[in-house]
Amino acid sequence: MESTEIIVIGAGLAGLTAALELAEAGRQVVVFDSHRLPRHKVCGEYLSMEVVPYLNSKGVDLSDAPEIGHLLLATPGGRSLRASLPLGAVGISRYALDQRLYEAARAAGVRFVWQAVEAVSFSDHQFRVRTRENAYSARLVLGAWGKRSRLDRLAGRPFFSKPSPWMGIKMHYQMDYPGNQVGLYAFRGGYGGLSVTETGAVNFCYLIHRDRFKNTPDLEACTRLLASEHPLLAPLLSEAKPLFPKALGISNISFHPKKLGSNHILMAGDAARLIHPLCGNGMAMAIEGGRLLASLTTGYIQGKIRDLDALEKEYSLQWQGKFRQRLRFGSLLQQLLLHPRGLEIGVGIAGKSPRLVQQLIEKTHGRP
Ligand SMILES: Cc1cc2nc3c(=O)[nH]c(=O)nc-3n(C[C@H](O)[C@H](O)[C@H](O)COP(=O)(O)OP(=O)(O)OC[C@H]3O[C@@H](n4cnc5c(N)ncnc54)[C@H](O)[C@@H]3O)c2cc1C
Repeated sequence: MESTEIIVIGAGLAGLTAALELAEAGRQVVVFDSHRLPRHKVCGEYLSMEVVPYLNSKGVDLSDAPEIGHLLLATPGGRSLRASLPLGAVGISRYALDQRLYEAARAAGVRFVWQAVEAVSFSDHQFRVRTRENAYSARLVLGAWGKRSRLDRLAGRPFFSKPSPWMGIKMHYQMDYPGNQVGLYAFRGGYGGLSVTETGAVNFCYLIHRDRFKNTPDLEACTRLLASEHPLLAPLLSEAKPLFPKALGISNISFHPKKLGSNHILMAGDAARLIHPLCGNGMAMAIEGGRLLASLTTGYIQGKIRDLDALEKEYSLQWQGKFRQRLRFGSLLQQLLLHPRGLEIGVGIAGKSPRLVQQLIEKTHGRP
């Protein structure tokens, strides 16, 4: 059995950040993921400015990503408001972002194993991680396996047995769209975002209730139907040229609260909790959560934190302090966005008070 100091499960933004930080702190880290990078993922690709200085400081170049400073919010009926974003964002594809962070982690000495983890156990102060091909032991295991994995089922995490009606669908298009704007378009049963990425491709990524999806034969037909029904999306998407052979989709997206630890494995990113996508803050939370987890883990290994129970307690405390407020506001805003009449009224009121819109957005984000 191969042995290492720390195993991170998942080479997404949370896992890559945690691994990079730990390697820079002199720790021996191996990251497991079932899929090689680079690859496309379902995501709005709106990366909050909150984490851009941090990524730059790690050598992750984002200079080709368009800066987004404005929000267009549109109701299903076609009413809209515009607002400046207090912090703003950059438009960067997951294909590029995850790959660039992966390269930084590799340069810092992180090792990668492209195999799915099938089981994790803990006994005699040692973790054992099993893939189909091999078994490994480690002093610590961090969980950064995203929204939903068989490991959640094996760990008996309660959210796994509660089906969620939400699906996410994404496509890149060749079309004209303002590079400095993110558009948030609400429709019956969901909402979607439009923004330009570093290649010039425009990302349309949306969240949709499965009841709305089930009467359409496939992801493309669903997108066409939604677009044709929306007075502001229809003229944009009817001329757009899809850039992937097929749209990407994921189902069962759960926003339920999750425990941050299970059998001494501490979680970061979506494995810890998913914020509603309309906030455009999940990637920043994954990166910030990965940093926090790496820093406390380093403290534990250096003997500054007594034991694994104390580590979990401290992590939960700091994680809640960092993210609780934005999760709460994200949930409130999602309820508003999915309530057509409430949204029409809200957009009418907020359209007269741009400061109110900015204050709401600020509550769903952290600071750089
Ligand atoms: C529709 C939608 C739109 C969104 N839009 C935005 C947006 O515009 N801006 C924003 O900031 N956030 C957005 N988000 C949220 C954002 O995508 C996530 O919060 C972010 O990807 C979380 O990163 P992560 O590292 O936790 O997980 P992921 O990036 O999902 O990485 C998890 C990794 O774990 C691996 N894995 C899983 N199981 C195993 C296993 N058993 N063994 C090995 N590896 C495993 C997976 O292969 C994957 O690579 C959106 C989310 C959705 C659903």
